[in-house]
Amino acid sequence: MQYVVDPSPISIVPVARSESLFPVHRIYCVGQNYGDHVREMGGDPEKGSPVFFSKPADAVVINNHSVDYPLATNNLNYEVELVVALASGGTNIGIDDAMSCVLGYAVGIDFTKRDLQAAAKEKGKPWDTAKGFDQSAPISAISLAEDVAEIGKTKIMLEVNGEVKQHASTEDMIWNVAEIIVELSKYYQLKAGDLIFTGTPSGVSTVQAGDHMRAAIDGVGELTVELK
Ligand code: MN
Repeated sequence: MQYVVDPSPISIVPVARSESLFPVHRIYCVGQNYGDHVREMGGDPEKGSPVFFSKPADAVVINNHSVDYPLATNNLNYEVELVVALASGGTNIGIDDAMSCVLGYAVGIDFTKRDLQAAAKEKGKPWDTAKGFDQSAPISAISLAEDVAEIGKTKIMLEVNGEVKQHASTEDMIWNVAEIIVELSKYYQLKAGDLIFTGTPSGVSTVQAGDHMRAAIDGVGELTVELK
């Protein structure tokens, strides 16, 4: 037997300070996880249950690579996010076991076609075309969890063309990393190779072709992306 077409290559993310590569299985994302961002989008930040959506694994763009301005939008937004990389998974993971699934952390941008998302929200339709598009998930190298001091209380920021647009603390997350893993594993069998984008703080806005973004999380790393 043989493949009828060539199989797609595996998406990879480098591991910081090593020669290792992280093979991406799935990309899960959490929406509305910082109160000030929920409010700027016109919502009410109540801790009900988290909003989950996903991106295809090949939406990953590694650090220092440019991203082409995507199709079918006039309002592309950046969203800086802490990204969790899983070394193991499971279903119905308990809160005491959640952090043992974590391999490490990275800085990511959840690129969003805000015009398409707003139209979908208004009609109660899915967000897929607004979120799960090509090159929509730039990500830094992964820092191993053992090298990251305090993930629950560290600074997260993003600047566009040298001007700071987003700055917050991961302390402001409504659902912390362990709680996200617990909740997500109620719906999906989590696996080694999964990435979880954990939501963005306030300050999201439009970017144009030619804009240069630099995102950083203290103790985790840095990500630079140029929009072409
Ligand atoms: Mn997001």
